[in-house]
Amino acid sequence: MNLAGTLVRSADAFPGDPAVRLHDTVLTYADLDRRSAAVAAMLDARGVRPGDRIAVMLPNVPEFAVVYYAILRAGAVVVPMNPLLKEREVTYYLGDSQARMIFAGEGCAGAALAGIDRAVVEDGFGTALPVPAERGVRDRKPSDTAVILYTSGTTGRPKGAELTHANLATNAEAAAGDLFRLGPDDVVFGGLPLFHSFGQTCGLNAAVGAGACLTLVPRFTPDSVLGVLAQHRVTVFEGVPAMYVALLAAADAAAGTPRFDALRVCVSGGAALPVEVLHAFEKKFECTILEGYGLSETSPVAAFNHPDRRRKPGSIGTPIRGVRIRVVDDTGADVPDGEVGEIAIRGHNVMKRYWRRPDATAEAIPDGWFRTGDLARRDDEGYLFIVDRKKELIIRGGYNVYPREIEEVLYEHPAVLEAAVVGIADPALGEEVGAAVVLRPGATATAEILQAYVKSQVAPYKYPRRIWLLAALPKGPTGKILKREISPPPLGQVE
Ligand code: AMP
Repeated sequence: MNLAGTLVRSADAFPGDPAVRLHDTVLTYADLDRRSAAVAAMLDARGVRPGDRIAVMLPNVPEFAVVYYAILRAGAVVVPMNPLLKEREVTYYLGDSQARMIFAGEGCAGAALAGIDRAVVEDGFGTALPVPAERGVRDRKPSDTAVILYTSGTTGRPKGAELTHANLATNAEAAAGDLFRLGPDDVVFGGLPLFHSFGQTCGLNAAVGAGACLTLVPRFTPDSVLGVLAQHRVTVFEGVPAMYVALLAAADAAAGTPRFDALRVCVSGGAALPVEVLHAFEKKFECTILEGYGLSETSPVAAFNHPDRRRKPGSIGTPIRGVRIRVVDDTGADVPDGEVGEIAIRGHNVMKRYWRRPDATAEAIPDGWFRTGDLARRDDEGYLFIVDRKKELIIRGGYNVYPREIEEVLYEHPAVLEAAVVGIADPALGEEVGAAVVLRPGATATAEILQAYVKSQVAPYKYPRRIWLLAALPKGPTGKILKREISPPPLGQVE
């Protein structure tokens, strides 16, 4: 068994078909197979042994796929890193993972890479290397680690989630088969970062397993993405909610209605997709969005609005095949349907452990069930609704306020482009409810108008006592809103 086996199978079945493309550069399945075999042979020659960690610090370029499958073929472990990391972060990741080598672009985090074997990756990387006569895919046990994905988890410094060949192969196969129904004629949008689990499993590995083409977009800008969707006739769009918001705003601003006749299905995950955004996007783009849910630690997909079941907007759907989900209280007991508890997951997709963190592993998987830190309720048909992250819950004077509920109300207001509801420390109540809002271009609503709207829609203890307007919300590399970095302006300043 080896996750890279999926590439070899697709290369046998569809050698001349495009596997990855960036603008006009296309790697066919035969190209990707040959080049990754050549780089794997180079790794062998450099003394890389099975289980060695090899860091990859590249944007979404075809060479990412070459290097990724090369490392897997050699039996080594991929440690993907965001190419935007700064020196001190790179030092931490390399030290923590004990990587013996890194693939990075020219000029990447200079000094941090001084003491490590490094391959500089440029356009066409691997083309000049000799292709070995053997296909060269080292056999691995299903439980061997294939990738270590760093994630902040709920607390502390980033931890490495050890994902096995079986974790990733099974999850990618489920995404490609049951969930997205990918085939060799599909063109999958590759704008989610490949160093993150969503883009890696649902983009790269799912597309390669199905013999589809992954159209890479190294930097997400709404206008360039609208161009790629039309030009490359994308059939499957995968994005985080911030991408849907940005595309919708760009399409609204553009003259005429964009038409993407090839688009078959859109997939959202990584954060909650506001129901208003879902409806507006579907109307504008004449498509269906299926929302799913997962985490780096679960490879990532755990739940999905399956294409053959009734879709419920606002819900993450039901567990995918081979995965069980419980909604539990702090003692680990199931809460009744309709009540809020923490999502706990068990199945083929749950990571083996956190790399060199036995304590964190025992805390996250105390009894065989992985605790996600996400609060949810299940309806009587088994559909799950994420209420919020446990740590983002606001407790105002003893009352629970779930930010997501208030955000959904703010998104209903026509002036609102994006909203993030956060807790503000308050001496009397413990926490007070605050909201940072970005207005749509040209909208003139004031904080008072928005506050009055929310106040008219929810119980009095829930509406934001402070609303402030921002030009943009802070976002992480995948486009998730970073609530930790949002705090209100000092009192007395114009809000
Ligand atoms: P990451 O490990 O970076 O992929 O982040 C995982 C976290 O993203 C989960 O624990 C959830 O808090 C959040 N998340 C993922 N999908 C959804 C979704 N559909 N709705 C709400 N939150 C989500």
